[in-house]
Amino acid sequence: MRLFSKLPYLTRILLIATVVAVSVVICGTLVMRFSVSNPPDKVKNSPTATTTVASQPNSIPAVLPTAIIPTNSTPIEVSKITQVQKKPTSNQLAYGHFPYTQANSNQMMLIGSYANGADQRFESLNTEAVQAFMKMTYAAREVGVWIIPVSGFRTIEQQEKLFQEQIKRRGSAKEAAKISAPAGYSEHHTGFALDLTDGKFPKKDITFEFENTDAYRWLTSHAKEFGFELSFPRNNKQGVSFEPWHWRYVGSSDAAAVFANARNQR
Ligand SMILES: [Zn+2]
Repeated sequence: MRLFSKLPYLTRILLIATVVAVSVVICGTLVMRFSVSNPPDKVKNSPTATTTVASQPNSIPAVLPTAIIPTNSTPIEVSKITQVQKKPTSNQLAYGHFPYTQANSNQMMLIGSYANGADQRFESLNTEAVQAFMKMTYAAREVGVWIIPVSGFRTIEQQEKLFQEQIKRRGSAKEAAKISAPAGYSEHHTGFALDLTDGKFPKKDITFEFENTDAYRWLTSHAKEFGFELSFPRNNKQGVSFEPWHWRYVGSSDAAAVFANARNQR
């Protein structure tokens, strides 16, 4: 203390101010550490925290914000968390299309991405059908045939969007239904149906021209070996237009049961 009192007045003031400032910083650091390791509950429930949790498959919030409902271009990680099971409202056919229940997105697996110009989207199928599809595309590759998936599992919302676009293009629901099923009536809802094309001819994607590709020729001879069949061949009893690109998996009892009504009509 003697030494302290010998110091000039200004130096003493500075020394006291330094000690006070250091104490404030130390106390502040301790308080912050404590609050970070014990976040209050209301922070967990904030919208920002919910969005972060939603991206982790193991911790799904009870109510998902509508902004993360998947669209065609949404990556599969996001669509996996949609657990809504939806059924068409009636058992009646719509323009020849049978009603199909929307499968659980959690049972879907990525089969690849499809690019059209600058647009890219990720497509998925039921896990069981994916195994068969991979074997089939590999067998085709071995003989130089390049089969690529254009479209797989679709939600009812996605189908509704597609069908409305077709109505605009073709003028009526009846005309639209010749090339696209109404929402709730698409085989794509099941996760067992997919549209295919030949990787060598991008301009023939989802056109009748696909019929004149190596991929289509190979599929007509070999798809059945892997459990796949054409859903809408020419002059099918359902009255749906010939769709050379649209195939369904019927290689397991589950998959075959899903399409039993349609297959009995053929
Ligand atoms: Zn299709």
